[in-house]
Amino acid sequence: MNLEPIKTAARQAAALCSTVQKRHFVTSQKADNDGPVTIADYGAQALIANAIKSHFPGDAVLAEESGEQFVGLVPPEQRAKVVALIGEVLGHRVSESDVVSWLDYGKDIQADRTWVIDPIDGTKGFIAMRHYAIAIGVLRGGQAVGGVMACPGYPAYNGGGALLWTENDTCMIGPISGFSGRQVRVSAIQDVQRVRVLESVEKSHAGFERMLRARMLAGLDAAPVERLDSMEKYARIAAGDAELYLRLPNLKSTRAHSTWDHAAGAALVRAAGGLATDIDGSPLDFSSGRTMARTRGMIVSNGRIHAQMIEGVRALLEEEAGTAS
Ligand code: AMP
Ligand code: MG
Repeated sequence: MNLEPIKTAARQAAALCSTVQKRHFVTSQKADNDGPVTIADYGAQALIANAIKSHFPGDAVLAEESGEQFVGLVPPEQRAKVVALIGEVLGHRVSESDVVSWLDYGKDIQADRTWVIDPIDGTKGFIAMRHYAIAIGVLRGGQAVGGVMACPGYPAYNGGGALLWTENDTCMIGPISGFSGRQVRVSAIQDVQRVRVLESVEKSHAGFERMLRARMLAGLDAAPVERLDSMEKYARIAAGDAELYLRLPNLKSTRAHSTWDHAAGAALVRAAGGLATDIDGSPLDFSSGRTMARTRGMIVSNGRIHAQMIEGVRALLEEEAGTAS
């Protein structure tokens, strides 16, 4: 599978997102408490889906946003702005109906291979000028087997951000604007004094106290913790810039994990020699459509501290169930 056209689309999507940040910030709130969305989310998804349509016809697509929502939620003048921006990035005119059809492309196709798009993961981070990611995963047989991720806030390449992708079962990194790349692997650190931990910024879903307690129970409480929006957390583990990304929801959270929030990241980490599993160490299950129905949380690591962290989470769950001795 040649990911070159998808890397190009991710670069184009990153350019569009950056223009939206500079020129036209408007956000809408999605229904059902699903968080904010911007015209850049729609623009990025349209560019990526169009590349899949052209280069991988017949493959299925699972994407966060929809054409119907774009038309229903975004006022006409904002729609016109993003349609013009997509044309600018592609270098030719496109119409609003092109954009709507690209947004929905592939959702009714049944195929062995499914492309999973999160056009802007960490929209709250994008709006707040923190970190966000443009993420495209590839699923086959319920497993994440490939991915491309643009991380404009990744601290690399003189502030230009980083693009990560899978290539022949390895993980590569390069600048977003540029065509070079080098292979990366997860870090070899296992010394608990040196382990770097990542977790979400958003208290609306992250169980910060639970994660702290689980790390204590795993013997990792001395580790420095960085809070970071988006799937860039997976990218940092893959590139060896951190050792542990723990994702435990808070106890009030009832929402399932979304497939597009994890597919690309899990593929990168796996290709870089790390592990991305459910909290009991079982493989992440991407076989249940838009949400990961059976998944309770994620442990993502360089592999060296994985068993220790699974044990910490097991002990936490036991405490929470009131069965700890
Ligand atoms: P992060 O940047 O790691 O906080 O993750 C952001 C992603 O988490 C966004 O795609 C959100 O849609 C998603 N999200 C928000 N609330 C929840 C929740 N309660 N459970 C799972 N995912 C959530
Ligand atoms: Mg997301």
